[in-house]
Parts: sequence; structure tokens; C-alpha cells
Amino acid sequence: MHGIKKWFGTFQAVDDVTLDIRSNEFFTLLGPSGCGKTTLLRMIAGFELPTEGQVLLDGVDISHLLPNQRPVNTVFQNYALFPHLTVAENIGFGLKMLGKPKSEIESVVKDMLKLVHLEGRGNNPVTQLSGGQQQRVALARALAPRPKVLLLDEPLSALDLKLRKSMQMELKRLQLETGITFVFVTHDQEEALTMSDRIAVMSTGTVRQVGSPWDIYDRPAERFVADFIGETNFLEADVVSVAGNRARVRLSSGAEISATYPEDVTPKGKVTIVIRPEHARLGPPGSGVMEGVLDDIVYLGTDNHFHVKTDGGSTFIVRQQNAKSGPCGFSEHDRVSVAINDDVAQILRD
Ligand code: ATP
Repeated sequence: MHGIKKWFGTFQAVDDVTLDIRSNEFFTLLGPSGCGKTTLLRMIAGFELPTEGQVLLDGVDISHLLPNQRPVNTVFQNYALFPHLTVAENIGFGLKMLGKPKSEIESVVKDMLKLVHLEGRGNNPVTQLSGGQQQRVALARALAPRPKVLLLDEPLSALDLKLRKSMQMELKRLQLETGITFVFVTHDQEEALTMSDRIAVMSTGTVRQVGSPWDIYDRPAERFVADFIGETNFLEADVVSVAGNRARVRLSSGAEISATYPEDVTPKGKVTIVIRPEHARLGPPGSGVMEGVLDDIVYLGTDNHFHVKTDGGSTFIVRQQNAKSGPCGFSEHDRVSVAINDDVAQILRD
């Protein structure tokens, strides 16, 4: 996708998006409601035309091809199955429209039923299937013509949490087994982190960062990305020195730590750094890089969230796994120290 802009009347939904989605990858467009994810997907599918820019597939401009002329298929949130057709007829529908011979359709439908674990259900009316099973049929129908790209617009959001989790694994497996490029839209950061090879984080019509789940979570380039992808601590710091791809920064407590930074940033002066709560540890006073008082302890079963009111006046959250059962050994109002693991701090772009 190159230089894509989309205006609806006087409203700009997509603002100059350039994305290089690789073949055979599970690529996710992630962002809050209204940021333009669906509009981008619809332009790849051909349901919308870009106001400016091009959609390229294998280097060929497909921006002005009709949806059915593109080797692209879409799975929608509401499945959009044909209620009067059986499971097999739904799966074979696209192939029938393409005029494929009956024997070929039957063979592909059989393979697809196996792929989505619905063997033996081909003759059932789709209306007799559960939500999760209907979603599998929708996937099988979209995969049957072997598109080069499969677009998935929040396909799991209608499912309950447990089913959604198992379908996440299922989608990942389908992508790996078929080798088809998946472009997945979601506003759920956990879903994006779990399934994707790479993620584009979007905000108000623009792409803020593209990277692996690890990059996006641990090396966010800006505040919006850090904030959107899970809980985090923001700290003000002063850059002391820069060497290689690391900077030495001084916290308001006076302690110095090492921090990484985005490629396009030259750290200097005052900067904001992010540290994930699980990358810090609590200890007795004097053992870390910041001192404070424990304000609140939230027990979450697998781990504890400690809210530390630092001597600098801010709140710093530490998340620590519960390695053993019973109380965690700290109490509210204790004076504590916060230590930060090596190589976890990241400087944000201004
Ligand atoms: P959601 O997760 O809620 O679906 P999204 O990130 O997919 O959100 P889009 O559906 O792409 O967002 O919409 C982006 C913006 O463009 C929104 O403000 C939306 O109201 C607007 N928009 C989308 N389609 C149209 C249209 N056909 N006419 C006018 N405005 C539109």
C-alpha cells in the first residue's frame, strides 16, 4: 500500500498510509475504534477506492480492480453466511461462482472441511451450527478459492472469551498451514500480540508503528503505542550519554539506567522513557533505582500489582509473579525500593 489517503466528503479517514505487507505473513492492523482499520481493509478488498495512493499486489497496481477481480477474500465479523445453504454449499459457493467443475468443488470442500475440523458436517444447514462453527465455515468459504490474501475484519469479536481464545490458535494454524497472507483487523491488543507476525498500530487514520509483537510491546516508539498496548510506566529522564544503540539516562531520583531508543531518534536533553510493570522489581529501601511508599497492592492470582508512590511524586506500577502461595511479603505503607531489569527501558519519540 503506497501513500493511501481516503476522504469521505470532508472527513479524512486515512492519512497517507504506506505499508509493506509481506507474502505469507500474519499481519494485523491494530487500533482504537474509528482509526481507519476497516477502511484500509476495504480498500485492499476493493469495496472502497482510495482517494489517493495505490494498492499493490506483487508489485502490480490493483487499486482500480473490482473486488471479484482481486485474488483477495474477506471474512467478516458477522460471518455473512447464506442461511438457506448447507455447510458444504456455503464453502463451495465462491468456487461455483468461478464456474469450477463439480468434482473440483467437492474435492476442495472436503479438504476445507478437514482444514477447519468440520468433517462430516457438510450436509448440515449452517443455521444448526454454533457461533464458533459458523465462523469456521466462513473461514473455509473464504479460503476455498485459495486467495493470495485473506482479509479478516474483527472475525472473533462475536465469540465468547473461551471460544475466541481457541479460535485465535485456530486462525494462526490455518495461516501457517495454508501459507496465505492474512491481514487481520482488531482493536484487541492481546489478540494482536498472540497471533501476528507483525502489527501496524494505527491512530486517527495514520500508522504510528509497524513491528513484531515484541517490538510493539517492548520497544514502543511513542506514547500512544506504549499506552495502547498494555499497562506501562512513563518516566521523565535526562540523557547523560549515548553509545551504540543505547543511551544512559538519569532518573529524577538521580540514579542512572541504560535505555534503547527508536532508530529515527537522536536522544538528547529531557526524554520520556517507558518501563513495563513486569520489568521492575520491589525490594527493601536502598536496593533499587527509586524509593517510595507502597500505596496499594492488587492481588491478581498469578501475580501482584504494586502501586508505589515514588519520592519524586509519581506512581510507578510493579508487577511481580507469585512464585509461591500466601502473602507477598510486602504491606501497604511499607517503604520500598524499585529495581529495573537490564535493557528494558525505552526512550520515546517526542
Ligand atoms: P471500528 O473498529 O469501530 O470498526 P475502524 O478503525 O475500523 O473502527 P473505520 O470503520 O475505518 O474505523 O472508520 C474510520 C473513520 O471513517 C470513522 O470515523 C468512520 O466514522 C469514518 N467512515 C467510515 N466509513 C465511512 C463512510 N462510508 N462515510 C463516512 N465516514 C465513514
